[in-house]
Amino acid sequence: MEYYHSPDSIKDALSMAREFDGNFIYFAGGTDVQIYRKQKLEKNEHIIDLKSIHDLNSISIKDEVLSLGAMTPLDDIIKSKEILKFFPVLVEAAKSVATPVIRKTATIGGNLLVRNRCTFYNQSQEWRNGVGSCLRDVGDICQVTGGKNDCFSRNVSDTAAALIALNAEITLINSNGMTQKPIKDIYLPCGIKFHDLDNEIILTQIRVPFSPKKWWYKKLRMRKTLDFTSLTIAATIDNQDIARICLNGVSMTPILIEEPIETLTLESLIKQARKNCKTVDNDLMPLKYRREMINVYLEEFWNSIYI
Ligand SMILES: Cc1cc2nc3c(=O)[nH]c(=O)nc-3n(C[C@H](O)[C@H](O)[C@H](O)COP(=O)(O)OP(=O)(O)OC[C@H]3O[C@@H](n4cnc5c(N)ncnc54)[C@H](O)[C@@H]3O)c2cc1C
Ligand code: SF4
Repeated sequence: MEYYHSPDSIKDALSMAREFDGNFIYFAGGTDVQIYRKQKLEKNEHIIDLKSIHDLNSISIKDEVLSLGAMTPLDDIIKSKEILKFFPVLVEAAKSVATPVIRKTATIGGNLLVRNRCTFYNQSQEWRNGVGSCLRDVGDICQVTGGKNDCFSRNVSDTAAALIALNAEITLINSNGMTQKPIKDIYLPCGIKFHDLDNEIILTQIRVPFSPKKWWYKKLRMRKTLDFTSLTIAATIDNQDIARICLNGVSMTPILIEEPIETLTLESLIKQARKNCKTVDNDLMPLKYRREMINVYLEEFWNSIYI
């Protein structure tokens, strides 16, 4: 059985969430959620659609600080001339998500909370039953590593990489009140529970505090549209010459390297990236190639700094 609900305030959405006691899913654009429902990886009965809640779809820029409502479609971000002027790295990242049609519905909040992916998990139920299920589903081993404890499914959010490189913060609301925290702090190094937000929390706003003086963005994928990332790197340099380089698609969380540009070297950047990324063979592209592409992309970024 499925039940659809469309609250028009955060208060009502939270009271529904409490009433359904975990047996629900928030629905923003639904472009990720619906696939999981179809593949029977998401089985909660109640859908709480956040679309009718006022004020969650908004773009505002004041003094080069960007505020975005969590329900803002990616397409609106791409089309905003002001965002392009001050935060082009975010526009590039949004442009690289999925396809033009999907981006009309897909929201920025949903993209930050898109579920981690793995070639052995994101499959139909028949496929999963055929090869044997895994730890993250109803099985008891990881099909990639053979281990019994850890899941290495990959965080694939392209906009998370850009927003972390922009040092952005998010606002979260649950029945205990409102909290704000850096986006990078919500992600957990676990493929099964990949963020620390409780079920009830609603992501309402994203705040980007500065317009960088330099930026760089690149995404590796099989086809230039449609495919999820095999490696995304977003990088910025701020007015104090702090470099923030964020890698995604190659570990359970986005990986941030943050350092003054004058002390950073290409060798140390590659060393930190390779050490911190827990990359395993769970993507369409071969593992060795993806690892090598980390070096290639970081070198390209490095060479771009001095142009
Ligand atoms: C063919 C295809 C290609 C795709 N390619 C990419 C890609 O290249 N890169 C990529 O990153 N994604 C990709 N996606 C996944 C998805 O389309 C995007 O991540 C999209 O931005 C998700 O946003 P949404 O609004 O549709 O989220 P939804 O599907 O509605 O929600 C995603 C998750 O976030 C939670 N959620 C959403 N909003 C909130 C909120 N405000 N508060 C609390 N929880 C919330 C939902 O409960 C759910 O768990 C692709 C999907 C498809 C079908
Ligand atoms: S990394 Fe292992 S446990 Fe995690 S989804 Fe893939 S096969 Fe399953």
